[in-house]
Amino acid sequence: MAVTIKSDREIELMREAGKILAEVHLQLKEFIKPGISTYEINEKADKLIRSYGCIPSFLGYQGFPASVCVSVNEEVVHGIPSKDRILLEGDIVSIDAGLIYKDYHSDAARTWPVGEVSEDAKKIIEVTEQSFFEGIKLARSGNHLHEISAAIQEYVESHGLSVVRDLVGHGIGRQMHESPQIPNFKQRNRGIRLHPGMTLAIEPMVNFGRYDVSWLDDDWTVVSRDGSLSAHYENTILITEGEPEILSL
Ligand code: MG
Repeated sequence: MAVTIKSDREIELMREAGKILAEVHLQLKEFIKPGISTYEINEKADKLIRSYGCIPSFLGYQGFPASVCVSVNEEVVHGIPSKDRILLEGDIVSIDAGLIYKDYHSDAARTWPVGEVSEDAKKIIEVTEQSFFEGIKLARSGNHLHEISAAIQEYVESHGLSVVRDLVGHGIGRQMHESPQIPNFKQRNRGIRLHPGMTLAIEPMVNFGRYDVSWLDDDWTVVSRDGSLSAHYENTILITEGEPEILSL
C-alpha cells in the first residue's frame, strides 16, 4: 500500500483528533492512582473519548475486547483491562489509546508512574519518552524514514535499555494502520523519503532488560520475556516543510 499524503482538510481533522486524544491522556493521568483497576481506566477512557463525539478505535479491532490497552510493569503493549488487575504503588502503567474523529484516526500512548516508583521505573519512563523526541528530530521532509528508527535505538541503547523489535509504528489517517511500518531500530536500508503531509504514529517500546518479548495466553498481552519493566510512548505526527508537528500532544 502506498503512503498517503494528507490534504489540508484532512490535516485539519487529524489535528482536531490529536488534540482530543491529548486531552484524553491528560485526564487519564489525573485518574491514575494506587487501588484502581485497569478496567476502571478503560471505563474512564471510553467515556472520555465518547464525550468528545469520537469513537474508541481499538474496541473490536481484530477482536480486541476493550477501548484502550492498559499494560502494567513487564507488559509491553496490548494489555487487556481487567477488574482483577489493581494498580499498586510503585507500578508503571502504559495506556495506549486511539480514536476516530470524523473518519480520521489519532493514536497515542503514555506511560505513567503509580504513586512513588523506583529509580529504574523513572528512568525507563523518561528514556522511552525522550527517545520519541530524539527520533522525530529526524522527521523532516527530505530525510529518510529509517533515520528516525536509528535515532530512537541509539538513544535508548545509550542509556543501557533495549528497543522491542517485534512491534513497530505505522502510518495513520483514514485507517489506524497505514503504510509505512516504522521500526524503532536500525534497518539495512534508508526507508522511504519523507514528504510534507505524511502522518505517522511513532511509538518506541522499550525494555529495561533484553528486547525479546512473548505473548501471553490471551493472545494479546505482550510482555518482556525476561520479566523486566517495559514502557511505551507514542504520538501521531505530521511531516511538514520544517519541524514535524506533534498532533497528539
Ligand atoms: Mg500505534
